[in-house]
Amino acid sequence: MDWEERAVGTVVGSAVGDALGGPFEFGPAGAFSARFPVPGIGGEMCGGGGWDPGEATDDTQMAVLVAESLVERGGLDLPDIFDRFQRWAASEPKDIGLQTEDVLTNGMPWDLAAALHFQVNLRAAGNGSLMRASTSAVHFARRGRQATMDAARRIAALTHGDRAAWEGTAVFHELVRLALHGADPLAALPEILDLVHPEHRDRYAVMLAPGWRPDQATEFNGAVWPCLGSAVWALRTTGTFEEAVRAAIDLGGDTDTVAAVTGGLAGACYGRDAIPPGWTGPLHVPLPGFGRVLRLPDLLDLVHRLVR
Ligand SMILES: [Mg+2]
Repeated sequence: MDWEERAVGTVVGSAVGDALGGPFEFGPAGAFSARFPVPGIGGEMCGGGGWDPGEATDDTQMAVLVAESLVERGGLDLPDIFDRFQRWAASEPKDIGLQTEDVLTNGMPWDLAAALHFQVNLRAAGNGSLMRASTSAVHFARRGRQATMDAARRIAALTHGDRAAWEGTAVFHELVRLALHGADPLAALPEILDLVHPEHRDRYAVMLAPGWRPDQATEFNGAVWPCLGSAVWALRTTGTFEEAVRAAIDLGGDTDTVAAVTGGLAGACYGRDAIPPGWTGPLHVPLPGFGRVLRLPDLLDLVHRLVR
């Protein structure tokens, strides 16, 4: 499997997980399997909860905004990404994280808005920077471990002042980088943890350990630690892309984001051909504020330009 097949798997896999999980957000555990007991039948892209069948939520919408900035600016332009986020946030997307919305609409400049929000609120370790990281992970994967983890932290910091969110996003970037190289990302977790900021290492070590299960989480999976931990668990305990995403949605709670993170990791490992065509067919990504809706061919073109 070549690099671009895995890169497409990462971005489209994350988008598919997001769109599948959206209708089940904040629902109970097991709801997906209760409705679709047998894998591989089709019809799972069902819509609901305000989402059309195949409609990607804010996770993928923001990932596409990051991707278009990276492609059009020829690299990392943080003020430009922030501008695009603000334009999107001002156009009434169907869903937007509370913290993300506050940071993007508080009128502060790009390099202060998230830090000031964190100073006032003290808690800012939501999964909102992790959920949108598939495209940046693919883009920076060729630059090496340090560069991709640093880029993850800087993009995360645009909306999340809490370093815990930066570190979780950096771990995701590195897991994707390893998978794109054909390595087993889970086997590398001990060495990845060595690169996590010392103040945050122990907490991630608990939730990324081989024996950890999502029912041991001490926070809702809208927080960055159990979200990443649950995605890694879903990848570790299943054998296909479809099984991994199903397991993620069946956890309940913040299903679109846990499935988006899981789908990104599983897509990087298994590649684009492992994603059921019945899931990519209805997939579409509206971009409020930009007057466009991306479909699969648009996403493929975007990934092609991201990894060029
Ligand atoms: Mg969402």
